Amino acid sequence: MFHVLDEDYFVSSAVVAPRNVQDVQAIMRLCNDFEIPLWPFSVGRNVGYGGAAPRVPGSVGLDMGKNMARILEVNVDGAYALVEPGVTFQDLHEFLVKENLRDRLWVDVPDLGGGSVLGNAIERGVGYTPYGDHWMMHCGLEVVLPDGTLVRTGMGALPNPAADPGLPPHEQQSNPAWQLFNYGFGPYNDGIFTQSSLVGVVVKMGIWLMTNPGGYQSYLITIPHDESLHQAVEIIRPLRVGMVLQNVPTIRHVLLDAAVMGTRKKYSNSEKPLTDKEIDGIAAELGLGRWNFYGALYGPPPVREAMWSVIKSSFSQIPGAKFYFPEDMPQNKVLQIRDKTLQGIPSMDELKWVDWLPNGAHLFFSPIAKVSGDDAVAQYQLTRRRSEEFGFDFIGTFVIGMREMHHIVCIVFNRKDHDQRQKAHRLIHTLIEDAAKRGWGEYRTHLALMDQIAGTYNFNNNSLMKLNETIKNALDPKGILAPGKNGIWPNSYDKESWKIDIP
Ligand code: ADP
Repeated sequence: MFHVLDEDYFVSSAVVAPRNVQDVQAIMRLCNDFEIPLWPFSVGRNVGYGGAAPRVPGSVGLDMGKNMARILEVNVDGAYALVEPGVTFQDLHEFLVKENLRDRLWVDVPDLGGGSVLGNAIERGVGYTPYGDHWMMHCGLEVVLPDGTLVRTGMGALPNPAADPGLPPHEQQSNPAWQLFNYGFGPYNDGIFTQSSLVGVVVKMGIWLMTNPGGYQSYLITIPHDESLHQAVEIIRPLRVGMVLQNVPTIRHVLLDAAVMGTRKKYSNSEKPLTDKEIDGIAAELGLGRWNFYGALYGPPPVREAMWSVIKSSFSQIPGAKFYFPEDMPQNKVLQIRDKTLQGIPSMDELKWVDWLPNGAHLFFSPIAKVSGDDAVAQYQLTRRRSEEFGFDFIGTFVIGMREMHHIVCIVFNRKDHDQRQKAHRLIHTLIEDAAKRGWGEYRTHLALMDQIAGTYNFNNNSLMKLNETIKNALDPKGILAPGKNGIWPNSYDKESWKIDIP
């Protein structure tokens, strides 16, 4: 989705949609026999990072979501769900609503509700409630290894005495603590199944659900001056690490909100990046700040009131900061969407910002930042300067985790404009280089940039990559599973010859 190379470069030769775990095992064995690369995906909406496309052109796409989309369990007392790959955030939310469980349990959702819970968690995607770190909230995997072996991780490795040994392993009743305790006994392996498809296709995953907190209030704090970004982030850090900010909040640049609510044409006919004056004009027209902080309060009224008084007095130190609840700004579509997202109600509207340009498409540049004013400002200045150098407006947001920020820069380009597509590719390539020089690394990336980013994580003579390659070659000796994913190439490939040229 949203190609940066030619449209037919990252393309599968065929797509297979297994109906059950045995099919997955059989496909895996066949791919080993014929030495055909296999690229698993769940729903294929890995938007901005490559969608369902494989790194190696001609791979067989393994569509895990099409026929394997059951919610296998929602456990109210344990507050968890066990899902197959095709279950979307929307599906899980609708299930809770239909079963009248929404007053007990919430699901954390990312910006768009159409992707899979499993695919997003194993790509280490994020959402915005207190359970926003999806990988942190997963609990227990069932995985098919490249040789077809079925593994349950964590407590799932301990058989349930009530299980029927006559059934195939994937149908056997699991240990009742599988979704309650992540680590089990011995080495904790779940990580090697994330962001890599290094050594397995995930067929079931447990995910913790949030208990309904008994009250909720979303809010927006507008920050009028660009220079206040530093102060805002310094205010945020102690509040977030101390959990006064209870959820994963975001500080969004005004152009991200402007792009959700309209197109660039509305504001300018110039091809040149918007100037500070123009950006201030847009902010004034929308009643927003240069930076806009979207957060939420969770709990019954006395809890929310206590949190809000601390948050409000802290942010009041920022010159010109203003505070809004959704009912104060019915015309602010972003606040209305965030109001839903931050309470786990999925939406499909957030991605409207790609229409900022005609035939809009995007790439994400996603470096990790310290929650510090200095880091935020330095990353903002660098990414804005480079974006403008290549002819793009800076559109970005800081997503604030427990101890770091995912700084998400949305490189929006016209996908029908060959020159602009190439510029976007060159821009992200340059940004990755710039960032590595300052010790900043990206958390996830598009297919076309995986090798470059993997190459920046090169401490001590690439020792981490060597470890990954050792695991890969041991468990997938023919290199059939997602070769090249996240820069990890099996021995059977000459990784130099798969390098992607920068235009
Ligand atoms: P989404 O479900 O959010 O639409 P995708 O299906 O596009 O996400 O998955 C994103 C990436 O995650 C895939 O390209 C693949 O590398 C990995 N992935 C997704 N599902 C699986 C799975 N079941 N097993 C192994 N890897 C997977």
